Amino acid sequence: MAKPLIRSIKGTHDILPDQSWRWQRIENTVRAFMKRFGYREIRTPVFERTELFARGVGQETDIVSKEMYSFVDKSGNNLTLKPEVTASVIRAYLQHNLGRQSPMTKLYYLDRAFRQERPQAGRYRQHHQFGVEAIGSPHPETDAEVISIAHGVLKELGLSDLELRLNSIGSQTSRTNYRQALKAFLKPHLSELSETSRRRFDTNPLRILDTKVPHEIEILKDAPVLTDYLTPEDAEHFDAVKTLLRALGIPFVLDSRLVRGLDYYTRTTFEFTSSALGAQNALCGGGRYDHLVETLGGKPTPAIGFAAGIERILLALETNNNEAQPETIDIYFVCLDENARPFVLQLANKLRGLGFTVETDLLRRSLKAQLREANRLHARLALIIGETEFQNQTVQVKDLTTTEQKSVNWDSLVDYISRLNFNSE
Ligand code: AMP
Repeated sequence: MAKPLIRSIKGTHDILPDQSWRWQRIENTVRAFMKRFGYREIRTPVFERTELFARGVGQETDIVSKEMYSFVDKSGNNLTLKPEVTASVIRAYLQHNLGRQSPMTKLYYLDRAFRQERPQAGRYRQHHQFGVEAIGSPHPETDAEVISIAHGVLKELGLSDLELRLNSIGSQTSRTNYRQALKAFLKPHLSELSETSRRRFDTNPLRILDTKVPHEIEILKDAPVLTDYLTPEDAEHFDAVKTLLRALGIPFVLDSRLVRGLDYYTRTTFEFTSSALGAQNALCGGGRYDHLVETLGGKPTPAIGFAAGIERILLALETNNNEAQPETIDIYFVCLDENARPFVLQLANKLRGLGFTVETDLLRRSLKAQLREANRLHARLALIIGETEFQNQTVQVKDLTTTEQKSVNWDSLVDYISRLNFNSE
């Protein structure tokens, strides 16, 4: 009896060969884009001490309180699969003292994150992110640069229906002022609020603004707006960010409910959404986190960053992304003579060394089956070696687009092929 198949874990996905080229395209675009802005790649481990996220993201957040994949290893260490990347990047920044090399550290990453959420379209238990962290500057031009990177890279990836939502949650002082006003407003509505929001009323009332409950959203429509409570310095910073975004031609809408789920954010918060997505419409979220470095044991260092979800980008691109895989190969080697095999493998490697994409038949198929395979792979040329060709030291070169066939000597083969105009990548 056949053994039962072992399947992947719910909420995780294999990226199969007919899709992986899309991922590579995104990764290549991200890398090239970041290079132009002078951001350098950082790679951090897939798991960290649980404490890092408890401290750096916040106990109060859904991510830490409900969604982490945490475990105790055989030595009794409490570890967690990274639910987001910023805390790890800042941990590495501090551990390796990157700030000593330069007062401004500009980093980017391509990584995966793990959250035990209820899987649905655009929400998975393992997902992939890219993002940047600009560490060291409190100035609004940094906020504008980071937002313009997110905007630019999403555009370059082919996303058109983007909306930038922008807010400022100010500094601690602004938020203390606002918290009082928000609590005074919500007090008469307390009995109408969900249990979660009632709890947050005491622990972290700002997070009530994050609610997804429709009647709470309705109540909040008349709530005081945080940006009206900003200190003059916070308001000036926010105005400067808006002015810079206008100068860069990046449209935005103000969204006073954008408080983000993470505790370490200060001042600017932003999100790019796509109308091509359903309920999970956030492509990218970010903001300033001037207190995180300190929270993790460093000296006070302002910073701002964003993280964008690659699965959601692919979902948003899907509608206008139905083109076939743009992959072809240059050469398919058809070998019909056993004695020719070592020579065929050698020549195939030589041509690969020159940059051609070359495949050989590994199944010892018939001529007809091998040519069928060459066509399936959209090979430009088939190189055919049978007994006669091997004895005469020749190769039949068949152009699979024109079906023209020509006998070429081994000596002149590389030259002959190199002179053909290949335009595959
Ligand atoms: P966050 O750290 O929650 O702001 O996440 C950054 C980005 O990652 C979001 O804007 C989404 O595009 C994406 N994202 C977050 N959580 C998930 C998830 N569970 N599944 C897929 N993508 C996600």
